[in-house]
Amino acid sequence: MFDKVLIANRGEIALRIHRACREMGIKTVAVHSTADADAMHVRLADESVCIGPPSAKESYLNIPAILSAASITGADAIHPGIGFMAENAQFADMVIEHGFAWIGPTPEHIRVMGDKVSAKKTVIARGLPCVPGSDGPVDSFETAAAVADKIQYPVLIKAAAGGGGKGMKVAFSKEELREAYQLARGEARAAFGNDEVYLEKYLANPRHIEVQLLGDHHGNVVHFGERDCSIQRRHQKVVEEAPSPALNAEEREKVGSLAARTAKLLGYRGVGTMEFLYEDGQFYFIEMNTRLQIEHTITEMITGVDLVREQIRVATGAPLGYTQQDIRFHGHSIECRINAEHPETFLPSPGQVKQYHAPGGLGVRVDSALYDGYRIPPHYDSMIAKLIVHGNTRNECLMRLRRALEEFVITGVDTSIPLHQRIIAEPDFINGDYDIKWMEGWMKRLQ
Ligand code: ADP
Repeated sequence: MFDKVLIANRGEIALRIHRACREMGIKTVAVHSTADADAMHVRLADESVCIGPPSAKESYLNIPAILSAASITGADAIHPGIGFMAENAQFADMVIEHGFAWIGPTPEHIRVMGDKVSAKKTVIARGLPCVPGSDGPVDSFETAAAVADKIQYPVLIKAAAGGGGKGMKVAFSKEELREAYQLARGEARAAFGNDEVYLEKYLANPRHIEVQLLGDHHGNVVHFGERDCSIQRRHQKVVEEAPSPALNAEEREKVGSLAARTAKLLGYRGVGTMEFLYEDGQFYFIEMNTRLQIEHTITEMITGVDLVREQIRVATGAPLGYTQQDIRFHGHSIECRINAEHPETFLPSPGQVKQYHAPGGLGVRVDSALYDGYRIPPHYDSMIAKLIVHGNTRNECLMRLRRALEEFVITGVDTSIPLHQRIIAEPDFINGDYDIKWMEGWMKRLQ
């Protein structure tokens, strides 16, 4: 087992990883920018190293600074968390070359899956169904138009290096495609330094269903069921639940075993998630995330498994030690992503938290690095807390979520708590009757 792990991240996820390490008897090293000197994960870690100024480019994305921090503190392993360096294959390579263990999949898996065009090719070759689209990158408007004629409008132009919904544009006609194609390329170039794009049929009313996977270094792979992340705004997840209210036992088993089988064929190790769109009883692979995900928490609640602990354990080379049959599911879990932003205009609201009171009680979990008086820096992501609840049934879970949101107090900054309260009071949400376009349609109807 590792003696000391460096956590190359910030915020609630750094704290989440610190907690798993402490429970495993592993010492932690926090790295932080000058803006995060007072952060909770820095206070709780055994050691901390300042790695640069507030800009992420000069701190959390600064490879030499992170590797130096690992060297001087004598860490054995580096956990990249979520975002920042988590899907940077070059960083993973360098971590390994410098003699540290990398708590993640092989750099090769990160590379292949990080490029969505090569990811789709790789999984199609192993029998996974994907959304119909271009066979590879589309390098001119004429090619895009020819593909669109074949698969028929509406189409979606997506960035090969995409993430966070960036570089994605819909076109309902050839005229729209001309502009959307240029816009998507420009956005992809600005966001990822790579303007390669591809085309997919824009599905009308799918749900976003993803499968949590875990593989060890010995070829064993299991899945921990699915999550439904269809409540989205601008292709970004807002509320997630597990299991999906839209799947029956047969469909659940089908998507879980399809994903696990493919990951096994790939020799995948570590935690990872395969994302699918689900429409008319069909699953279509869209991408794989070769890292922990924000919403891993709801899977933990219904399986009782600490996924970060498992991730660290398999990174040491330990075998899984259990099979698919050993994984049991109990009850229902929902997560609300709480952001420091205005609940109606979505304008970011960094600043000082005056009062912070987290809800509690049976089945309530809050993953957050906030505390009274904490200053939310303006330089990073606006997510400040995850409220995760569990219930024996979906209805119990919904009632508990409503009660927990009522108890949550964060003053001094705007938060999205009122937005969550409105979403979960909607009959469509209560009935589990929503798809990826529901939330934006609902907001339009409210205007
Ligand atoms: P990113 O990596 O930027 O998050 P994804 O490929 O995971 O991009 O897609 C994000 C979201 O965009 C999906 O959850 C879904 O809501 C929407 N989306 C992606 N592909 C399609 C498609 N072919 N048709 C309709 N919606 C899509």
